[in-house]
Amino acid sequence: MLALGIDVGGTNFRVGVFQDGKLIEQYRVERNLRLACSKLLPEHVGFEIVRMFTDEVTFLMNEYPELDAIGIGFPGFIDPVTQIIAQSPNLPGLINLNLATDLSQALGKKVIVENDANAAAYGEYCLAGKPPGGLIYLGLGTGVGGGLILDGKVYSGQHGVAMEVGHIIVKPKGRQCGCGNLGCMETYASATGVSLTYFELTGQQKSAAEIAALADAGDEHAILAYQNAASDLAQALASILKVIDVQNIVIGGGMSGAWPLMEKAFTQRLEADLIPVLRGKIQVKISTANDTAGMLGAAMLSTAMLALG
Ligand SMILES: [Zn+2]
Repeated sequence: MLALGIDVGGTNFRVGVFQDGKLIEQYRVERNLRLACSKLLPEHVGFEIVRMFTDEVTFLMNEYPELDAIGIGFPGFIDPVTQIIAQSPNLPGLINLNLATDLSQALGKKVIVENDANAAAYGEYCLAGKPPGGLIYLGLGTGVGGGLILDGKVYSGQHGVAMEVGHIIVKPKGRQCGCGNLGCMETYASATGVSLTYFELTGQQKSAAEIAALADAGDEHAILAYQNAASDLAQALASILKVIDVQNIVIGGGMSGAWPLMEKAFTQRLEADLIPVLRGKIQVKISTANDTAGMLGAAMLSTAMLALG
């Protein structure tokens, strides 16, 4: 089975061709979707996105005419039944886009569209050897995304907004979040959150990567910024695990590279907050997929869908 997996990010797409789950070709397309969308009238945004994907996949289909299915991991709220992208908070103007159907008609191939964090979760689940029970994925980047695989299937909820874990409130009356609430976990435990904590501690504006380098060099405020982020992430995860009883957790995303700065504070807080019967049982792993899990998951979901007919 030959499948294409596309992981859509804010400034680029990652494209992978998979033969029976094995990556045989991958590349990156630098394309700032957010910028492209912001320059268009809202009524043209959907059309432009469909055109962009049609061009990209048509180009690949010339190289791989035997392609069976196409999976796309897309940032946004996606209806689990119709696959319509209801909204994508970072792509202004995009409302109710039926990318899966439009693209499928344009290309004559099966296309599935899944939330990007759910696709990454499914990719990690495949890489982990499909553990019984399932897996929770937490992606640490500009925000914090989450995906849940339950009994072998993506669980995205009735409205496609399950596992919006970044918006679990960890500090009532805390920082203002883009979602409109105060104190959401992602305003503390994301790269943006680490930068903000460091700014509050020192008055200096630095990126999360710069703060990680400072922490490695022994800067105590930088170390504290990462420890606080780790603790807030663990607090939210302990809450998730009180609702969803899953043993395997994978943490990925750009900020997971700084895990050595976070691990101790994370484990201490998680163990303290968990229901006692779960203490010592939760397996937390850092993704080793090097950011390919989203593509893999999207591709594998497309072939799974094809198998169902
Ligand atoms: Zn929020």
